[in-house]
Amino acid sequence: TKFTDLGLSKPLLDALAAKNYIVPTPIQAQAIPTVLTGRDLLGIAQTGTGKTAAFMLPSLDRLANPRVHPIARRVRMLVLAPTRELASQIAESARTYARNINLTTGVIFGGTAPMKSVREVSRGLDVLVATPGRLLDLVDQRAVDLSRLEILVLDEADQMLDLGFIHALKRIVQLVPKTRQTLFFSATMPKAIKQLADAYLTNPAEVSV
Ligand code: AMP
Repeated sequence: TKFTDLGLSKPLLDALAAKNYIVPTPIQAQAIPTVLTGRDLLGIAQTGTGKTAAFMLPSLDRLANPRVHPIARRVRMLVLAPTRELASQIAESARTYARNINLTTGVIFGGTAPMKSVREVSRGLDVLVATPGRLLDLVDQRAVDLSRLEILVLDEADQMLDLGFIHALKRIVQLVPKTRQTLFFSATMPKAIKQLADAYLTNPAEVSV
C-alpha cells in the first residue's frame, strides 16, 4: 500500500512527501480510508505505530470538506491526550499537516499560564489538542465552546484512566454533540476501557496492530 492509494487529498500527500513518509504503517493503511468515510474507529495500538498520522490526516481532510470557519471559542476537532508531552507531540504533528490545507490548530495543557490557554482558543480552532484537566478549566470559565464539535479523539485512553481522568473525560463527552465522529485509541483493552469505548463509539471499525 502507498499513501496515494488511501484517498487523502493532494496537499496532505505533499506534506507527507515533504516529511519523507513513503509507506503507510499498518494502522495508517487500515485507519485512513475508514476515518475518511466518517465512521467511528476503535484502535488498539501503542505509541510508535504511527497512530497520530492515522487519525490526524483523514480528520483534517474531513474538516477541510466542507470547511466551516470556527468562530470565537468554538472547536471543530478535539484530541484529548493524557500528558503534556503527548499533547505537544500531537499538536506539532497537527500543525505541520494542517498548514498545507489552511486549518488552524492549538494546544493547551496544565503547567502553563492559564491566560495562555484562554488566548489559544479565543478565536476558535479547527483542531484543539488538550489534556483533560486544563480543558475543563477553560470550560468552567466559558472560554471554550465544544457544542459544535465534529470529531472527538481520545488518545491513550488506558493512560487517561490510570491518571485519574475518568470524571474529566465523562464531563467533556457530555459537552460535545451526540452526533459526531469518535476515534478511540488505547494500547490495552481491559474491561473498563472496553466499557468506555462501547459508551462513546457508534458501530466502530476496529483496528488492532
Ligand atoms: P506515533 O505512533 O504517531 O507516535 O508515530 C511514531 C513515529 O513514527 C513518529 O516519529 C512519526 O513521525 C513516525 N512515522 C509515522 N508514520 C510514519 C510513516 N508512514 N513513515 C515513516 N515514519 C512515520
